[in-house]
Amino acid sequence: MTTAGTVAVDGHPVTGRPAAINSTKMFSDELLHIDWDATTAAIAAKTAADVERALQKEHCDVDDFMALISPAATPYIERMARLSRRYTEERFGRTMSLFIPLYLTNSCTNSCVYCGFHVGNHMKRTILSPEEMVSEYQAIKKLGPFENLLIVTGENPAKAGVNYLAKALDLAKPYFSNLKIEVMPLSTEDYATLTHHGLNGVICFQETYHRENYKLYHPRGMKSNFEWRVNGFDRMGQAGVHSIGMGVLIGLEREWRTDLTLMAYHLRYLQKHYWRTKYSVNFPRMCPAENGGFEPNCIMTDRELAQLTFAMRIFDHDVDISYSTRERADFRDHMATLGVTTMSAGSRTEPGGYSTHPDALEQFEVTDPRSVPAVTEGLRRVGVEPVWKDWDGSFDSLRLAEAGKTVSETN
Ligand code: SF4
Repeated sequence: MTTAGTVAVDGHPVTGRPAAINSTKMFSDELLHIDWDATTAAIAAKTAADVERALQKEHCDVDDFMALISPAATPYIERMARLSRRYTEERFGRTMSLFIPLYLTNSCTNSCVYCGFHVGNHMKRTILSPEEMVSEYQAIKKLGPFENLLIVTGENPAKAGVNYLAKALDLAKPYFSNLKIEVMPLSTEDYATLTHHGLNGVICFQETYHRENYKLYHPRGMKSNFEWRVNGFDRMGQAGVHSIGMGVLIGLEREWRTDLTLMAYHLRYLQKHYWRTKYSVNFPRMCPAENGGFEPNCIMTDRELAQLTFAMRIFDHDVDISYSTRERADFRDHMATLGVTTMSAGSRTEPGGYSTHPDALEQFEVTDPRSVPAVTEGLRRVGVEPVWKDWDGSFDSLRLAEAGKTVSETN
Protein backbone atom coordinates (compact mmCIF):
# COMPACT_ATOMS: atom_id res chain seq x y z
CA MET A 1 0.00 0.00 0.00
CA THR A 2 1.17 3.54 -0.63
CA THR A 3 -0.24 6.70 0.80
CA ALA A 4 -1.04 9.96 -1.00
CA GLY A 5 2.05 11.57 -2.48
CA THR A 6 4.10 8.40 -2.36
CA VAL A 7 5.17 5.91 -4.98
CA ALA A 8 6.51 2.41 -4.57
CA VAL A 9 10.06 1.29 -5.32
CA ASP A 10 10.63 -2.46 -5.05
CA GLY A 11 7.34 -2.53 -3.20
CA HIS A 12 8.52 0.13 -0.80
CA PRO A 13 6.62 3.34 -0.06
CA VAL A 14 8.76 6.34 -0.89
CA THR A 15 8.09 10.04 -1.08
CA GLY A 16 8.77 11.98 -4.25
CA ARG A 17 10.82 10.57 -7.07
CA PRO A 18 13.47 8.03 -6.08
CA ALA A 19 17.05 8.70 -7.10
CA ALA A 20 18.22 6.52 -9.96
CA ILE A 21 20.32 3.64 -8.72
CA ASN A 22 23.86 4.11 -10.00
CA SER A 23 27.31 3.68 -8.62
CA THR A 24 27.86 7.35 -7.70
CA LYS A 25 24.98 7.35 -5.23
CA MET A 26 25.23 6.04 -1.72
CA PHE A 27 22.47 4.41 0.26
CA SER A 28 21.87 7.56 2.33
CA ASP A 29 20.66 9.22 -0.90
CA GLU A 30 18.15 6.42 -1.45
CA LEU A 31 17.04 6.57 2.15
CA LEU A 32 16.07 10.25 1.82
CA HIS A 33 13.17 9.11 -0.36
CA ILE A 34 11.84 6.44 1.98
CA ASP A 35 9.26 7.69 4.43
CA TRP A 36 9.31 6.04 7.87
CA ASP A 37 5.68 6.80 8.76
CA ALA A 38 4.33 5.73 5.36
CA THR A 39 6.28 2.47 5.69
CA THR A 40 4.86 1.88 9.17
CA ALA A 41 1.33 2.54 7.90
CA ALA A 42 1.86 0.26 4.90
CA ILE A 43 2.97 -2.64 7.13
CA ALA A 44 0.00 -2.16 9.44
CA ALA A 45 -2.38 -2.22 6.45
CA LYS A 46 -1.18 -5.57 5.13
CA THR A 47 -3.91 -8.19 4.84
CA ALA A 48 -4.18 -11.96 4.70
CA ALA A 49 -4.42 -11.67 0.90
CA ASP A 50 -1.04 -9.86 0.82
CA VAL A 51 0.49 -12.64 2.94
CA GLU A 52 -1.01 -15.38 0.73
CA ARG A 53 0.36 -13.65 -2.36
CA ALA A 54 3.86 -13.41 -0.84
CA LEU A 55 3.82 -17.07 0.17
CA GLN A 56 3.01 -18.15 -3.37
CA LYS A 57 5.90 -16.22 -4.94
CA GLU A 58 9.27 -17.79 -5.68
CA HIS A 59 10.99 -14.39 -5.56
CA CYS A 60 9.67 -11.88 -3.05
CA ASP A 61 10.23 -8.13 -3.09
CA VAL A 62 10.35 -5.75 -0.12
CA ASP A 63 6.58 -5.28 -0.27
CA ASP A 64 6.16 -9.05 0.24
CA PHE A 65 8.65 -8.96 3.12
CA MET A 66 6.50 -6.27 4.76
CA ALA A 67 3.48 -8.55 4.49
CA LEU A 68 5.39 -11.49 5.96
CA ILE A 69 6.56 -9.59 9.06
CA SER A 70 3.22 -7.84 9.53
CA PRO A 71 0.64 -8.80 12.18
CA ALA A 72 -1.50 -10.14 9.30
CA ALA A 73 1.04 -12.97 8.86
CA THR A 74 0.96 -14.25 12.44
CA PRO A 75 -1.70 -16.92 11.69
CA TYR A 76 0.58 -18.20 8.90
CA ILE A 77 3.62 -18.86 11.06
CA GLU A 78 3.55 -22.65 10.70
CA ARG A 79 3.31 -22.41 6.92
CA MET A 80 6.11 -19.84 6.90
CA ALA A 81 8.27 -22.15 9.04
CA ARG A 82 7.82 -25.04 6.57
CA LEU A 83 8.68 -22.83 3.61
CA SER A 84 11.68 -21.35 5.41
CA ARG A 85 12.98 -24.82 6.26
CA ARG A 86 12.56 -25.96 2.65
CA TYR A 87 14.44 -22.98 1.17
CA THR A 88 17.20 -23.28 3.78
CA GLU A 89 17.74 -26.99 3.16
CA GLU A 90 17.73 -26.49 -0.61
CA ARG A 91 20.41 -23.80 -0.38
CA PHE A 92 22.50 -24.78 2.68
CA GLY A 93 21.62 -28.41 3.46
CA ARG A 94 21.23 -29.25 7.13
CA THR A 95 24.39 -27.46 8.22
CA MET A 96 25.37 -24.70 10.64
CA SER A 97 28.47 -22.58 10.15
CA LEU A 98 30.04 -21.87 13.55
CA PHE A 99 32.13 -18.84 14.46
CA ILE A 100 33.54 -17.30 17.60
CA PRO A 101 33.86 -13.60 18.46
CA LEU A 102 36.95 -12.13 20.09
CA TYR A 103 36.75 -8.69 21.71
CA LEU A 104 40.15 -7.01 21.39
CA THR A 105 39.25 -3.86 23.30
CA ASN A 106 36.46 -2.20 25.24
CA SER A 107 38.05 1.20 24.74
CA CYS A 108 35.53 3.43 23.00
CA THR A 109 35.09 7.12 22.25
CA ASN A 110 31.35 6.86 21.57
CA SER A 111 28.46 7.36 23.91
CA CYS A 112 25.78 4.94 22.72
CA VAL A 113 23.11 5.23 25.40
CA TYR A 114 22.40 1.47 25.39
CA CYS A 115 25.96 0.19 25.86
CA GLY A 116 28.03 -0.36 29.00
CA PHE A 117 31.24 0.40 27.08
CA HIS A 118 30.20 4.03 26.37
CA VAL A 119 32.88 6.67 26.95
CA GLY A 120 31.17 8.16 30.00
CA ASN A 121 31.26 4.90 31.92
CA HIS A 122 34.22 4.93 34.30
CA MET A 123 35.52 1.42 34.00
CA LYS A 124 38.81 -0.30 33.39
CA ARG A 125 39.60 -0.21 29.67
CA THR A 126 41.57 -2.99 28.06
CA ILE A 127 43.40 -3.03 24.74
CA LEU A 128 44.97 -6.39 24.03
CA SER A 129 48.66 -6.36 23.13
CA PRO A 130 49.93 -8.48 20.21
CA GLU A 131 51.13 -11.11 22.67
CA GLU A 132 47.71 -11.19 24.35
CA MET A 133 45.99 -11.52 20.96
CA VAL A 134 48.04 -14.61 20.18
CA SER A 135 47.28 -16.08 23.58
CA GLU A 136 43.53 -15.54 22.88
CA TYR A 137 43.79 -17.17 19.44
CA GLN A 138 45.49 -20.18 20.98
CA ALA A 139 42.91 -20.39 23.77
CA ILE A 140 40.07 -20.30 21.18
CA LYS A 141 41.62 -23.17 19.23
CA LYS A 142 41.51 -25.24 22.41
CA LEU A 143 37.74 -24.64 22.70
CA GLY A 144 36.97 -26.14 19.28
CA PRO A 145 38.28 -26.38 15.72
CA PHE A 146 37.12 -22.85 14.86
CA GLU A 147 38.18 -21.48 11.46
CA ASN A 148 35.76 -18.51 11.45
CA LEU A 149 36.90 -15.70 13.76
CA LEU A 150 35.05 -12.42 14.32
CA ILE A 151 37.31 -9.68 15.71
CA VAL A 152 35.35 -7.07 17.66
CA THR A 153 36.45 -3.69 19.03
CA GLY A 154 34.93 -0.55 20.48
CA GLU A 155 35.50 2.57 18.40
CA ASN A 156 38.80 4.20 19.30
CA PRO A 157 40.72 5.00 16.09
CA ALA A 158 43.66 6.57 17.97
CA LYS A 159 44.36 3.50 20.08
CA ALA A 160 42.82 0.66 18.07
CA GLY A 161 42.78 1.96 14.51
CA VAL A 162 43.57 0.42 11.15
CA ASN A 163 47.21 -0.44 11.94
CA TYR A 164 46.13 -2.19 15.13
CA LEU A 165 43.50 -4.17 13.22
CA ALA A 166 46.01 -5.07 10.50
CA LYS A 167 48.32 -6.44 13.18
CA ALA A 168 45.49 -8.44 14.75
CA LEU A 169 44.60 -9.93 11.34
CA ASP A 170 48.22 -10.76 10.53
CA LEU A 171 48.59 -12.59 13.83
CA ALA A 172 45.26 -14.39 13.43
CA LYS A 173 45.96 -15.67 9.93
CA PRO A 174 48.03 -18.73 10.96
CA TYR A 175 45.17 -19.86 13.22
CA PHE A 176 41.98 -19.12 11.24
CA SER A 177 41.02 -19.33 7.56
CA ASN A 178 38.13 -16.86 7.66
CA LEU A 179 38.62 -13.49 9.35
CA LYS A 180 35.84 -10.97 9.88
CA ILE A 181 35.74 -7.73 11.82
CA GLU A 182 33.01 -5.84 13.66
CA VAL A 183 34.61 -2.47 14.31
CA MET A 184 34.08 1.23 13.54
CA PRO A 185 33.06 2.02 9.96
CA LEU A 186 36.19 2.61 7.85
CA SER A 187 37.03 4.36 4.60
CA THR A 188 37.04 2.39 1.34
CA GLU A 189 40.83 2.58 1.29
CA ASP A 190 41.11 1.23 4.83
CA TYR A 191 38.80 -1.69 4.06
CA ALA A 192 40.87 -2.41 0.95
CA THR A 193 44.07 -2.25 3.01
CA LEU A 194 42.74 -4.75 5.52
CA THR A 195 41.78 -7.21 2.78
CA HIS A 196 45.54 -7.45 2.12
CA HIS A 197 45.94 -8.55 5.75
CA GLY A 198 43.47 -11.41 5.38
CA LEU A 199 40.18 -9.62 6.02
CA ASN A 200 37.34 -11.56 4.44
CA GLY A 201 34.20 -10.06 5.94
CA VAL A 202 32.80 -7.06 7.81
CA ILE A 203 29.82 -6.96 10.12
CA CYS A 204 28.28 -3.62 11.02
CA PHE A 205 24.96 -2.94 12.68
CA GLN A 206 23.22 0.21 11.57
CA GLU A 207 21.39 0.01 14.93
CA THR A 208 18.43 1.94 13.47
CA TYR A 209 17.48 3.46 10.13
CA HIS A 210 15.41 6.15 11.87
CA ARG A 211 17.62 9.10 11.00
CA GLU A 212 16.33 11.52 13.68
CA ASN A 213 16.14 9.03 16.54
CA TYR A 214 19.57 7.65 15.64
CA LYS A 215 21.02 10.90 16.98
CA LEU A 216 19.25 10.42 20.33
CA TYR A 217 20.85 7.00 20.81
CA HIS A 218 24.28 8.14 19.59
CA PRO A 219 24.61 11.69 20.92
CA ARG A 220 28.39 12.12 20.72
CA GLY A 221 31.48 10.67 19.08
CA MET A 222 32.14 9.37 15.60
CA LYS A 223 29.12 7.10 15.70
CA SER A 224 26.75 10.08 15.90
CA ASN A 225 27.29 10.58 12.14
CA PHE A 226 24.37 8.63 10.62
CA GLU A 227 25.49 9.07 7.02
CA TRP A 228 29.04 7.86 7.68
CA ARG A 229 27.70 4.70 9.27
CA VAL A 230 24.95 3.90 6.79
CA ASN A 231 27.23 4.51 3.80
CA GLY A 232 29.90 2.29 5.31
CA PHE A 233 28.22 -0.64 3.56
CA ASP A 234 28.76 1.00 0.17
CA ARG A 235 32.41 1.52 1.08
CA MET A 236 32.77 -2.17 2.02
CA GLY A 237 31.25 -3.14 -1.33
CA GLN A 238 33.51 -0.74 -3.23
CA ALA A 239 36.56 -2.15 -1.44
CA GLY A 240 35.60 -5.65 -2.57
CA VAL A 241 34.99 -7.08 0.91
CA HIS A 242 33.82 -10.65 0.30
CA SER A 243 31.15 -10.82 2.97
CA ILE A 244 29.01 -8.07 4.50
CA GLY A 245 26.87 -8.55 7.59
CA MET A 246 24.09 -6.20 8.64
CA GLY A 247 21.51 -5.76 11.36
CA VAL A 248 19.46 -3.35 13.44
CA LEU A 249 19.35 -3.38 17.22
CA ILE A 250 15.87 -4.60 17.98
CA GLY A 251 14.54 -2.69 20.96
CA LEU A 252 15.70 0.77 19.96
CA GLU A 253 12.64 1.60 17.88
CA ARG A 254 9.15 0.66 18.97
CA GLU A 255 8.31 0.07 15.30
CA TRP A 256 10.83 -2.71 14.78
CA ARG A 257 9.02 -3.89 11.65
CA THR A 258 9.73 -0.56 9.97
CA ASP A 259 13.43 -0.73 10.88
CA LEU A 260 13.70 -4.27 9.50
CA THR A 261 11.90 -3.24 6.32
CA LEU A 262 14.43 -0.46 5.74
CA MET A 263 17.19 -3.01 6.32
CA ALA A 264 15.59 -5.30 3.73
CA TYR A 265 15.51 -2.40 1.32
CA HIS A 266 19.21 -1.73 2.10
CA LEU A 267 20.05 -5.40 1.50
CA ARG A 268 18.40 -5.33 -1.93
CA TYR A 269 20.21 -2.08 -2.78
CA LEU A 270 23.58 -3.61 -1.84
CA GLN A 271 22.87 -6.81 -3.75
CA LYS A 272 22.14 -4.77 -6.88
CA HIS A 273 25.31 -2.69 -6.56
CA TYR A 274 27.81 -5.19 -5.15
CA TRP A 275 26.57 -8.46 -6.55
CA ARG A 276 29.81 -10.37 -6.00
CA THR A 277 29.47 -9.92 -2.25
CA LYS A 278 27.93 -12.45 0.11
CA TYR A 279 25.48 -11.08 2.68
CA SER A 280 24.41 -12.03 6.16
CA VAL A 281 21.83 -10.65 8.57
CA ASN A 282 21.61 -10.78 12.32
CA PHE A 283 18.64 -9.92 14.55
CA PRO A 284 20.09 -8.85 17.92
CA ARG A 285 17.39 -8.38 20.53
CA MET A 286 18.36 -5.75 23.04
CA CYS A 287 19.55 -6.62 26.55
CA PRO A 288 19.78 -3.99 29.28
CA ALA A 289 23.25 -2.38 29.27
CA GLU A 290 25.51 -3.45 32.12
CA ASN A 291 25.88 0.13 33.33
CA GLY A 292 23.71 2.19 31.04
CA GLY A 293 20.31 1.07 32.29
CA PHE A 294 18.70 1.81 28.92
CA GLU A 295 15.11 0.63 28.81
CA PRO A 296 14.29 -0.96 25.42
CA ASN A 297 11.41 0.69 23.55
CA CYS A 298 10.06 -2.71 22.59
CA ILE A 299 10.63 -6.31 23.56
CA MET A 300 10.51 -8.74 20.66
CA THR A 301 8.97 -12.09 21.62
CA ASP A 302 10.40 -15.46 20.51
CA ARG A 303 7.41 -15.90 18.23
CA GLU A 304 8.04 -12.53 16.57
CA LEU A 305 11.73 -13.35 16.10
CA ALA A 306 10.79 -16.69 14.56
CA GLN A 307 8.34 -14.97 12.19
CA LEU A 308 11.00 -12.43 11.23
CA THR A 309 13.53 -15.20 10.58
CA PHE A 310 11.10 -17.12 8.36
CA ALA A 311 10.15 -13.92 6.54
CA MET A 312 13.80 -13.12 5.82
CA ARG A 313 14.46 -16.63 4.48
CA ILE A 314 11.38 -16.52 2.24
CA PHE A 315 12.42 -13.02 1.08
CA ASP A 316 16.02 -14.08 0.40
CA HIS A 317 16.91 -17.74 -0.07
CA ASP A 318 20.68 -17.11 -0.13
CA VAL A 319 21.34 -14.71 2.73
CA ASP A 320 23.10 -16.12 5.79
CA ILE A 321 20.91 -15.72 8.86
CA SER A 322 22.99 -15.55 12.02
CA TYR A 323 22.00 -16.08 15.66
CA SER A 324 24.37 -15.14 18.45
CA THR A 325 24.62 -16.38 22.03
CA ARG A 326 22.26 -13.56 23.00
CA GLU A 327 19.57 -16.16 22.32
CA ARG A 328 18.67 -19.07 24.62
CA ALA A 329 20.09 -22.53 23.93
CA ASP A 330 16.70 -24.22 23.38
CA PHE A 331 15.54 -21.48 21.01
CA ARG A 332 18.79 -21.61 19.03
CA ASP A 333 18.54 -25.38 18.65
CA HIS A 334 14.94 -25.14 17.49
CA MET A 335 15.63 -22.39 14.96
CA ALA A 336 18.71 -24.24 13.66
CA THR A 337 16.37 -26.42 11.60
CA LEU A 338 14.14 -23.62 10.36
CA GLY A 339 16.24 -20.93 8.67
CA VAL A 340 19.33 -20.00 10.71
CA THR A 341 22.62 -20.86 8.97
CA THR A 342 25.34 -19.28 11.15
CA MET A 343 25.84 -19.28 14.91
CA SER A 344 28.43 -18.18 17.41
CA ALA A 345 29.43 -20.67 20.10
CA GLY A 346 31.41 -20.51 23.32
CA SER A 347 31.36 -16.69 23.14
CA ARG A 348 32.91 -14.32 25.66
CA THR A 349 31.99 -10.66 25.17
CA GLU A 350 34.70 -9.15 27.34
CA PRO A 351 38.11 -8.26 25.85
CA GLY A 352 40.60 -11.06 26.38
CA GLY A 353 37.82 -13.20 27.83
CA TYR A 354 39.21 -16.56 26.68
CA SER A 355 42.57 -16.36 28.42
CA THR A 356 43.87 -12.91 29.38
CA HIS A 357 41.06 -11.17 31.30
CA PRO A 358 38.29 -13.74 31.88
CA ASP A 359 36.65 -11.59 34.58
CA ALA A 360 36.37 -8.26 32.71
CA LEU A 361 33.02 -6.52 32.13
CA GLU A 362 31.00 -8.03 29.26
CA GLN A 363 29.41 -5.86 26.55
CA PHE A 364 26.22 -7.88 26.79
CA GLU A 365 25.17 -10.89 28.76
CA VAL A 366 25.53 -14.23 27.00
CA THR A 367 22.25 -16.13 27.26
CA ASP A 368 23.54 -19.39 25.79
CA PRO A 369 26.58 -20.15 27.98
CA ARG A 370 27.02 -23.74 26.76
CA SER A 371 30.49 -25.05 26.00
CA VAL A 372 31.39 -25.51 22.34
CA PRO A 373 30.95 -29.33 22.50
CA ALA A 374 27.52 -28.82 24.11
CA VAL A 375 26.48 -26.48 21.26
CA THR A 376 27.60 -28.95 18.59
CA GLU A 377 25.88 -31.81 20.42
CA GLY A 378 22.66 -29.77 20.55
CA LEU A 379 22.86 -29.14 16.80
CA ARG A 380 23.48 -32.81 15.99
CA ARG A 381 20.56 -33.79 18.21
CA VAL A 382 18.23 -31.80 15.92
CA GLY A 383 19.87 -33.24 12.78
CA VAL A 384 22.11 -30.29 11.89
CA GLU A 385 25.80 -30.79 11.11
CA PRO A 386 28.22 -28.14 12.48
CA VAL A 387 30.58 -26.69 9.85
CA TRP A 388 33.83 -25.11 11.00
CA LYS A 389 35.32 -24.10 7.69
CA ASP A 390 33.55 -22.62 4.67
CA TRP A 391 36.39 -20.47 3.33
CA ASP A 392 40.01 -21.28 2.61
CA GLY A 393 42.94 -18.89 2.83
CA SER A 394 43.98 -19.99 -0.68
CA PHE A 395 40.90 -18.15 -2.04
CA ASP A 396 42.36 -14.86 -0.78
CA SER A 397 44.48 -14.12 -3.83
CA LEU A 398 41.49 -14.74 -6.09
CA ARG A 399 39.37 -12.48 -3.91
CA LEU A 400 41.97 -9.70 -3.99
CA ALA A 401 42.08 -9.83 -7.79
CA GLU A 402 38.26 -9.61 -7.86
CA ALA A 403 38.40 -6.73 -5.35
CA GLY A 404 40.70 -4.79 -7.67
CA LYS A 405 38.15 -5.16 -10.46
CA THR A 406 35.27 -4.14 -8.21
CA VAL A 407 36.98 -0.93 -7.13
CA SER A 408 37.78 0.07 -10.70
CA GLU A 409 34.22 -0.73 -11.86
CA THR A 410 32.63 1.42 -9.18
CA ASN A 411 34.96 4.39 -9.66
S1 SF4 B 1 27.94 0.05 21.08
FE1 SF4 B 1 30.04 -0.03 20.29
S2 SF4 B 1 30.44 2.07 19.65
FE2 SF4 B 1 28.69 2.17 21.06
S3 SF4 B 1 29.58 2.60 23.08
FE3 SF4 B 1 29.36 0.35 22.84
S4 SF4 B 1 31.35 -0.33 22.08
FE4 SF4 B 1 31.24 1.87 21.75
